[in-house]
This record gives sequence, structure tokens and C-alpha cells, in this order.
Amino acid sequence: MLKILYPKMYVSSILEIKPCLLKEKGLKGIIFDLDNTIVRRDSVVFTPEIWKHLSELQREGFKMGIVSNNSRKRVGAVAGQMSLPAVPRAVKPLVRPFRRALKLLGTRPDETALVGDQIFTDILGGNLTGLYTILVVPMEGKDFWGTKLIGRPLEKIVLARIKKSAGVLHGKWD
Ligand SMILES: [Mg+2]
Repeated sequence: MLKILYPKMYVSSILEIKPCLLKEKGLKGIIFDLDNTIVRRDSVVFTPEIWKHLSELQREGFKMGIVSNNSRKRVGAVAGQMSLPAVPRAVKPLVRPFRRALKLLGTRPDETALVGDQIFTDILGGNLTGLYTILVVPMEGKDFWGTKLIGRPLEKIVLARIKKSAGVLHGKWD
């Protein structure tokens, strides 16, 4: 199995990504995927828990931004609520949008986490860029039809391998 598809960590929600753990790893920046990572795909509103958590990360001084394959309008509507810099229509897993986000954040790849729910866009792109990749279980809600048709079945195969491998354990930091 290709290591480039493996996240460094796998968590059930971004709520598990605590400031102290990020600091332990020397991480100063966080690039978030949008859909099913910080908001449900059928919503533009943060849940109160997510809002609180993102605010705490911001207060703790983390540089945060969004890289999403979704439209400028949708990404702008969500990012604007927290004044987060964002790269919409990103065409992940291409490296270029992640590099653009790093410029906006002002952080190096090795001190920046990438948090996303999809292996073949978020994790692959993050690993190719040299980021600390964190896979989250997708939030409830509707997947984009293309994701459902192609992405998820393949992800299941990769996820099964990841869970079996000693390198990445659920909720553990390596
Ligand atoms: Mg997503």
C-alpha cells in the first residue's frame, strides 16, 4: 500500500484535535478541508461545538485556513464567518492550492497540519505538500455524488489497511 495515502493521524472529529497536541508536534498552522470536515455538506453553518473549538484554536494562536474544491461562493460564505483565509476551487490533490494556503498562513509545510475527510484529495494532497496529515471521519450529511460513487468505496479499502497497519492507530499521534 502506498504510504503517500496514509494520514499521520486518524480521529473521529476535529474536536479531538487539541491545541496542546498540535503544539507538542511543533505545529503552528492548520489547513482545513471544508465539506464534511468543518461543516456538513448540506450546510453553511458551523455547529456550536465546532465553532467553539475553532475559536479556541484561533485564540491559542494557530494560523488557520481552508482549502476546498468547492465553489468560491460556498467556501467564502463559510470562511467569512471566522475571517479565515481560503483557497476555493482548489483541485485537490494538486499541491499548488496547498502551497497557496501556506503562503496565506505564513507557515512552513513541516509546521502545518492538514485536516480532511478524504484520502484521495485531502490526505494525498497534504502528504505531497509535506504537511502533517490528519484524517477525520466525515460529518453526517450528503456526500457529493462523485465522492459517493468513486471516492468512498476506494477509501474503505485504504482505511481497512490503515486500521490494520501499526503505523497509524485511531486517535494516536506518531
Ligand atoms: Mg471533505
